Amino acid sequence: MHIEPLHAFEDNYIWLITRDGTDACAVVDPGDEEPVVSELEKRGLRLTTILITHKHYDHTGGVDALIKRYPDVEVFGPGNESINHISHSVEDHQQISLPDMNLEFEVLCIPGHTEGHVAYLGNGILFCGDTLFAGGCGRVFSGTFEQMSASLERIGKLPPETQLYCAHEYTQANLGFGLWVEPQSEPLKKRSQSVEAAVKQGVPTVPSSLQEELETNPFLRVEQQNVISAAEKWAGRPLKNNVEVFTALRQWKDRDYD
Ligand SMILES: [Zn+2]
Repeated sequence: MHIEPLHAFEDNYIWLITRDGTDACAVVDPGDEEPVVSELEKRGLRLTTILITHKHYDHTGGVDALIKRYPDVEVFGPGNESINHISHSVEDHQQISLPDMNLEFEVLCIPGHTEGHVAYLGNGILFCGDTLFAGGCGRVFSGTFEQMSASLERIGKLPPETQLYCAHEYTQANLGFGLWVEPQSEPLKKRSQSVEAAVKQGVPTVPSSLQEELETNPFLRVEQQNVISAAEKWAGRPLKNNVEVFTALRQWKDRDYD
């Protein structure tokens, strides 16, 4: 299996999944059809599958045009969000099989960024949309802070070698916030330097491993004493549990950082 980024808009990644020996391919979160069509045309690939993580336009905007061009394509996505053209409404723990590709993924419902956000897990990989970003996490829009906190905890329990394919190139800015939370962290300083170098060269900083995120992403570190202390200092009060620490971190970043 090969996974490659197709660039869309300012900083979105549409993930292209291909396999040797077949012209069938899949894309994750095609917010724009143009980069997908041009790559598929160039390589003689046939789109059989679209995986959608959530309803936002920069993840779904290309679906309509792609279905017109590839009428046999099957579209997987959450049934409880308003998304047009879904042919397979997915549920938590559901196993899905990508048509003509002999690839299986498990659906994880990870609400918070939106109320129905899902991720696709399989083959050592997680397509996590806008829930977990490299070095950070998505904003809480139409879900709740409780949901987002639980979803991040769930991702945090996956095998640490899992490769995380998120949908935006936000890593550098995220790590800057991480350094507000944990200014003394050596792993974080190191990661920040290597990400800065990659961004300068125009190299994607995604995917990352869960292990790396567990060491440097404050939103997966809400049980670490120094993270709790930093969040409490910002909030100006003691924080009772993981949800409160997560909420303080997210609000801190929303209000003061970006
Ligand atoms: Zn989104």
